[in-house]
Formats: sequence, structure tokens, C-alpha cells
Amino acid sequence: MNVNADNPGVVSTMSILSYTKKSIKQYQNDFKKGRINKPDCCEICGNKNNLTWHAKYTRKLITLNGIYKLPIRRLYCPHCMHTFALLPEFVKKFYRYGKDVVFFAVKELKKYTYDQVAEKLLHMISIEIAMNTFSKWNRIFTNQKV
Ligand SMILES: [Zn+2]
Repeated sequence: MNVNADNPGVVSTMSILSYTKKSIKQYQNDFKKGRINKPDCCEICGNKNNLTWHAKYTRKLITLNGIYKLPIRRLYCPHCMHTFALLPEFVKKFYRYGKDVVFFAVKELKKYTYDQVAEKLLHMISIEIAMNTFSKWNRIFTNQKV
């Protein structure tokens, strides 16, 4: 748990509520038009219909097509006094990187070394990805379906 910067009196967790739409454009459009729906219940206490919109913030998503600045909504549950980020599905698993980057890296790692794949991605998206990030992606792919 950490303290919420917007409101230090409110306990914040790293818990994430997912937004199931898959495309970045669709999400951005929905966000602009205020069409992001609240989840049915709080992820921690399970209390229904009590969630209120809290602050919003921007997070960076690195994809093969460029870097997106995504607006993210936070929610507050008055029942258990926790706040949550409402993260779209495409951000949920890999945080800073889009699924396309992760898929590409994992595929390439079957044929090339970490250094070679890091070099390729550096040329493609101008970002150097650490070896332990690659290992983490590989582990996720080995253990579960994405
Ligand atoms: Zn709650």
C-alpha cells in the first residue's frame, strides 16, 4: 500500500480494475466522450455500486507504432476507502509496454539472443529494454496465455 498523492488521507493500493476493450484508439475515444463505465463492484471489498470517480492521470504506453499518453481514471470505494486505477486491458499486463512490443520480443527471443533482440528494439522504438524485463515477459508467456 502507498499513500495517494492526490489525497494523502486516502489509502491507495496497486490493485487494478480492468477495462476489457482491446484497442487503444477505442479507449481514447471512449475516454474523451466520457464513455468509460465504472466496474460493478470494488475489487477489494466486493461492495456493489458504491464506487465514485476519483482523480485521473496519464501514463505512457510504448508500442511498436509509437508512444501513447493514455489518460487513466481512478476510482474510490467509500466502503473500504481504497482507490484503484481503471486500467485498460492492453495496459494491464505489461504496464509500460504494449502487447505488440511484448509479442515481438518473445517471438524474436526464440531465435535470437537478448542482446540481439534489445538491439532490434532499440532501432525500432528507440528504447533500450533491460534483460530482466525480457526474462519477465518470457516467464509470463511460458506460464500463461496472454
Ligand atoms: Zn471497497
